[in-house]
This record gives sequence, structure tokens and C-alpha cells, in this order.
Amino acid sequence: MSDCLFCKIIAGDIPADIVYQDNEVLVFKDINPKADVHLLMIPKQHINSLEQLNASHHDLISNMMLKLPILAKNQGLNGGFRTIINTGKDGGQEVFHLHMHLLGGKNLAGF
Ligand code: AMP
Ligand code: ZN
Repeated sequence: MSDCLFCKIIAGDIPADIVYQDNEVLVFKDINPKADVHLLMIPKQHINSLEQLNASHHDLISNMMLKLPILAKNQGLNGGFRTIINTGKDGGQEVFHLHMHLLGGKNLAGF
């Protein structure tokens, strides 16, 4: 998607602080962190949101979920972490390329 911010990051057209990538996901630091650690994990294929998922995405989403606790450990989050997926405008989604927020560190406010 040529007008998608996160697709531009995947393409290298917009810089990002990348902490991990493989053939199907990219993980980078959120530009406006809400916690000591605030990463975004995105699929390299453009998917608007959770609402666009279908059975063909089964392995991708499973792999993303399995990578989250490994990333958290690598970031030193040994006491736990928070994941958030905002979906649609009523869900607070601002960038319409599916992403999982990974947050952690001291003093995470109650949800
Ligand atoms: P959401 O509200 O769930 O759509 O979250 C979008 C997130 O993307 C926000 O936390 C923003 O701070 C973050 N963000 C926006 N632009 C960039 C960027 N260029 N690099 C890294 N993170 C970004
Ligand atoms: Zn995109």
C-alpha cells in the first residue's frame, strides 16, 4: 500500500529504530513511547486491521503471538509486559496497518 506509513517503514522509505525482523514481521520502537519499552510488531504484508483477518493469516498471527514473549525477554522485561491491538476508529487505531503494541517497564498504569 503506497500510502501506508508502516509499509513505507517496511520498504525503508521512512526511517525507524528496528529491533527485529524476519521474512514475515518487522519490530521497531514506537516514535511516541508510552512506557520504558514500547515496540510495535507489524506483518510485512499489508493488513488493515484485525477486522481484515481470515483463515489464510492463521500461521502469521500465531507466529506473531509466539514471538512477543521472546521479544519481551530480549528487552529485559522479565516481570511481564502488556500487549495492545487497537482496531478501527472506535478502537483508537490511528495507523491502518495491523500492529501489536508491546509495552513494559516500571509503573505501567492500570488498564
Ligand atoms: P495505534 O493508535 O494503535 O494505531 O498506534 C499507532 C502507533 O504508531 C502510535 O503509538 C504512534 O506513536 C506510532 N507511530 C506513528 N508513526 C510512527 C513512526 N513513524 N515510527 C514509529 N512509530 C510510529
Ligand atoms: Zn501497510
